[in-house]
Amino acid sequence: MIKDVRIEVRQYLKTLKDKIFTIKLNFSWKSPKVIGGTIVLLLLLGSGTAYFSSTNSVVYVVVNGEKVGLVANKTEAESLVNQILNEKGAPLGTIAKTHDSITYSSARVNQDEFTALTKETLAGDISYYVEGVRLVVNEKPIFVLASSDEADKLLNEFKEFYAHPSDKNLISSIEFEGKVETQGVEAPLEEVIPIEQALEKLKQGNLQREEYIVKANDSWWLIARKNDMKTKEVLASNPGTNEDTILKLGQKIMLDKVTPYLTVVSKGVKTDTETIPFEVVTKTDSSLPSGQSKVKQAGSDGTKEVQYSYVQKNEKVVSQTVQDEKILKEAVAQVIEKGPQRSKVMVAYSRGSGSITSGLAWPLRGKITSYYGYRSSEFHTGIDIDGDTGDPYVAAAAGTVVSAGWNGNYGNSILIDQGNGIMTRYGHSSKLLVSAGDSVSKGQTIGLVGSTGRSTGSHLHFEVIINGDTVNPLSYLN
Ligand SMILES: [Zn+2]
Repeated sequence: MIKDVRIEVRQYLKTLKDKIFTIKLNFSWKSPKVIGGTIVLLLLLGSGTAYFSSTNSVVYVVVNGEKVGLVANKTEAESLVNQILNEKGAPLGTIAKTHDSITYSSARVNQDEFTALTKETLAGDISYYVEGVRLVVNEKPIFVLASSDEADKLLNEFKEFYAHPSDKNLISSIEFEGKVETQGVEAPLEEVIPIEQALEKLKQGNLQREEYIVKANDSWWLIARKNDMKTKEVLASNPGTNEDTILKLGQKIMLDKVTPYLTVVSKGVKTDTETIPFEVVTKTDSSLPSGQSKVKQAGSDGTKEVQYSYVQKNEKVVSQTVQDEKILKEAVAQVIEKGPQRSKVMVAYSRGSGSITSGLAWPLRGKITSYYGYRSSEFHTGIDIDGDTGDPYVAAAAGTVVSAGWNGNYGNSILIDQGNGIMTRYGHSSKLLVSAGDSVSKGQTIGLVGSTGRSTGSHLHFEVIINGDTVNPLSYLN
């Protein structure tokens, strides 16, 4: 004990010397008096006060009964803990809390043994929680946010993301699909996510990896259709595959499906300016030699302003109905006069002759409700085949999809280039199963019957276009 004290005193004296030295260094130029004063004061300290002057009164920070370190005093210790709780919660817009018991016990330690507990060390010894809010969609917990304010902000921002009101787009309602709830929860800090991250997750959707066992007659395309995915998404889920990769019956493949966590249903009215494609009217002129034709009147496209009421789920337009149409410029029909017989080109591709020996396949089996040609004042550019909404129809011949999407009066329609100047068009679909650029084979299901665009009931409008002119499809169908 005595020895200890002596050591302490010696250490103290050493510290003293160091201090004087430091003071000298600091003050020798400016204030010699201070140095003198300090020395005198220090020399007055007797050995009896050596212990108390060489030790400091400090506090131990005790977390769950364990001393984790020293801090100069209780006020400092408490402020350190508060700082940590604030900093931990700050990225989440809240203050973190802890269930840990944090107490302070007084102690005296040697001055030179005193190393203050750092914020980082103390922070690592505490566990945190947040009195947060769990977002629950259709009874499914999604994630925890720091507060109900944060949750409200997130939900509003997600709605905003899909709602962009403008002059051309008037939103009448925007709401979530299903039941969206928030529940107050106590969650560990690690489980709580910042609002920016939560918004990003909502936008990206939930990626789930699923197994799929290849069935008889499956193709990459068919598997994609069955799972409401795109062929390229199915291929991307199985690295090293492409459309030509052979699938074996019973083979296991993966499907990376993205399902939305939360669906925003927005309804409104939008206005689009659309092209009115000019019609081609073919008239027989017996004064022309057979196989010859001439343009009597050049056609030109018109434009119209179309007002749609629409329903959109997240980024997808799920339905679109024409409410009003205003013709800005009338289309001018192209009038072609032809010699009494069909041109050689048309005959070449017609049924039972020439290069397409098998002709075109019926895209849909059903009653023909409207034929090609004049019907009252209008010229019907294709045939209408009766069908129910949702009935699948197929490509009449192999080819490349030129366009697949909304096209004015045709509604959801597909245009396929079959090569050799032949194109086929499929109108009024409820759903399109191909995209522009896709290669399709003859007999491949490409869409579902519907009644979109200018249509009075579910049917398929089918056109055959040869060298830019519509022709009677019945001449080419097998
Ligand atoms: Zn039609």
